[in-house]
Amino acid sequence: MGFVKFLGTAGARYVVGKQLRYSAGTWIELGGTRLLLDPGPGTLLRCRRSRPPLDPEALDGLILTHKHLDHSTDVNIMLEVMAELGHKGRKGVLVAPRDCLEGEDPVVLRYVRRYPERIEIMEEGRVVGIGAVRVTPVRHRHGDAETYGVMLDSPEGRLGFVVDTRFTPELPERYSDCDLLVLNVVRLKPTPEIDHLSLPEAVEIIRGARPKLAVLTHFGMTMLRAKPRELASKLSGELGLEVIAAEDGMQIGSERWL
Ligand SMILES: [Zn+2]
Repeated sequence: MGFVKFLGTAGARYVVGKQLRYSAGTWIELGGTRLLLDPGPGTLLRCRRSRPPLDPEALDGLILTHKHLDHSTDVNIMLEVMAELGHKGRKGVLVAPRDCLEGEDPVVLRYVRRYPERIEIMEEGRVVGIGAVRVTPVRHRHGDAETYGVMLDSPEGRLGFVVDTRFTPELPERYSDCDLLVLNVVRLKPTPEIDHLSLPEAVEIIRGARPKLAVLTHFGMTMLRAKPRELASKLSGELGLEVIAAEDGMQIGSERWL
């Protein structure tokens, strides 16, 4: 049975820095393939402390959507644990934008690159297979960091992850036909100078994309103060589809979106 587990739900510097919510990534199991999306600070710890524990050495792949610290801090240790513990040798796949690997300030350390079996560069139009999952990158607009959301096609449905981005009109269309749609909603109100989704913009994407189930996560302070759970339950009524606000450690089984 597939599932998605939110090991952390923090977004924005303040919430991450104060650890008002955990900043670990999202564990995704689909068709027996185990993936971890955006290993932010504390990902290794939150895997081990999860109930029941999640074993990073059992991972088949890591997906890094962009290089910002709240998404990438634990990528190096996770690559090492995925490959080295128990297995002793190259194992797993890393999928990441080019600027995480090249240029002046790559976040994936060079000496760690001998651990994964494959490193795949994310590019628009370039689909990457990891076990039972096909990963399709969707280009986002998020400051200077090269950033991609992902669509995951699997025997247990199509999952979309709208990560850090400013709103663009093509996003609802790009994420149509998802069974589960997860959106990083940092701000309560639109803030044009910041390249992050606000709640009304996330609602516009959900309204256009019409997933079976939508999950809001990656909250900044304005969202936390407004009580994400109450906002989500109100939205479920307004949109006529189920909207959930993620909590740290929340697990959603595939029966909820299939
Ligand atoms: Zn970011």
